[in-house]
Amino acid sequence: MVVAPAPQPSQVIVVGAGLAPGTCTVCRNGKMKNSASFWTWLCCCILLPFGILPALIVFCCCCRGPKCTKCGYTP
Ligand SMILES: [Zn+2]
Repeated sequence: MVVAPAPQPSQVIVVGAGLAPGTCTVCRNGKMKNSASFWTWLCCCILLPFGILPALIVFCCCCRGPKCTKCGYTP
């Protein structure tokens, strides 16, 4: 007879517990904001001579990520 072990309550470590959504988990002060990075601007400038459309696509789609407005942390 096989006795199935009782399911152990798994300990879940909640990162950033008690923080408002969008708040930086590192400094707990800044806001995580989707912003265009330096590379976005650079790619945009490089592609601009080829036309406004590829530059716009790159600007809208690439090199974007949530970044803390306070400490600059990017997950
Ligand atoms: Zn931060």
